[in-house]
Amino acid sequence: MKTEFMIRPARCAYVHIPFCRSKCAYCAFRSFPAEVDIKEKYITRLEKEIRSAGRNHSVPLKSLYLGGGTPSELDTSQIGRIYAAVDETFGFLPEAERTIEVNPFSGSRQKLEALRSLGFNRLSVGVQSLSDPLLRTLGRPHSARQALETLEAARNAGFSNISADLMFGLPGQTPEDLTDSIDRLVSLPQITHISAYSLSVEPGTRFGRLQKEGKLVLPDEDTERHMQYLLNDRLAQAGFVQYEISNYARPGFEAVHNGAYWDLTGYYGFGLSASSFTDGVRKTNTFDMTEYLDSPADAAVPGESHSLDFDEAAGDFMFLGLRRCAGVDDRQFQKMFGSSFFERWPDQIDSLRDRGLLVREGTVLKLTELGKDLANQVFVEFV
Ligand code: SF4
Repeated sequence: MKTEFMIRPARCAYVHIPFCRSKCAYCAFRSFPAEVDIKEKYITRLEKEIRSAGRNHSVPLKSLYLGGGTPSELDTSQIGRIYAAVDETFGFLPEAERTIEVNPFSGSRQKLEALRSLGFNRLSVGVQSLSDPLLRTLGRPHSARQALETLEAARNAGFSNISADLMFGLPGQTPEDLTDSIDRLVSLPQITHISAYSLSVEPGTRFGRLQKEGKLVLPDEDTERHMQYLLNDRLAQAGFVQYEISNYARPGFEAVHNGAYWDLTGYYGFGLSASSFTDGVRKTNTFDMTEYLDSPADAAVPGESHSLDFDEAAGDFMFLGLRRCAGVDDRQFQKMFGSSFFERWPDQIDSLRDRGLLVREGTVLKLTELGKDLANQVFVEFV
């Protein structure tokens, strides 16, 4: 039986900035407020991590994604140092997508102009909702008006490719709230991409604690499903194409960076708690800031590594790739794994097709609309 497989080498890099002004009620990310000197130490360690990881890399990157946390909480000069470390170490293809996450509370016109000058050509803005009461419920430290002002300032600073994050299934949210947020966002020409996530209540968050105490009232399942359909319809009417379960774009503006995750291509990850996938090894850096900062600059950052075996990699190809609306192509699977997925999972695929969750088009398998609703029932068959 074949045990070797081919993973495409990393051409995308993620850099994690774990600093935030305050903690949102739903947030389970590694993020916290930071003192100035911690930020400085962090940038210095990050530069070293980036420069040493790229020693053997010879092909320019297709994408850089600076996420968090709130990267825009850093000074422009600090962001510039990170950008320069990546650029000088790996280089970028001329058309490379270079995204930075910005939150409305730290995206002044001046800062946005500086980010554009540094070389960033795409923003991801944490809008979440354009309802002030919902933003307060979420614990977001900004208003709807500030979010719209940031989007306007970004356009004036020269950004014409902006992704906005939206959330649904929120406590107290109605379908009308969601419609209003969608319609106002898509009326802006600089919004080329929407990432829309239903609220997931995680342990250890403020929402998690409220739920445990029985104090968190969420929309029921039918309302949440209605919101998902509403999103699909409203965004389709506005010319956005759903290209992944949670992502919609105007044609030609699909995110390059996330494509690496869904295609089982390698990617670099730098910074506290960042994940990478290189040479078939998944690694997650330490979550402990002291350990990260104190790790010797000439050694790899501490963390947990796991070498994917053949079965895991084949399963990941299926469940990550099926998130894409274009589905998974057996020709690509054969290239990477030397066999057909139709032969590897014949019963599972037949059963999922019979249940109306998957559809076959030639060599391609895709989720149906029902399959997107019940995606976890599909994914579990391949892992
Ligand atoms: S801004 Fe983002 S990373 Fe920061 S606390 Fe809120 S959700 Fe978490």
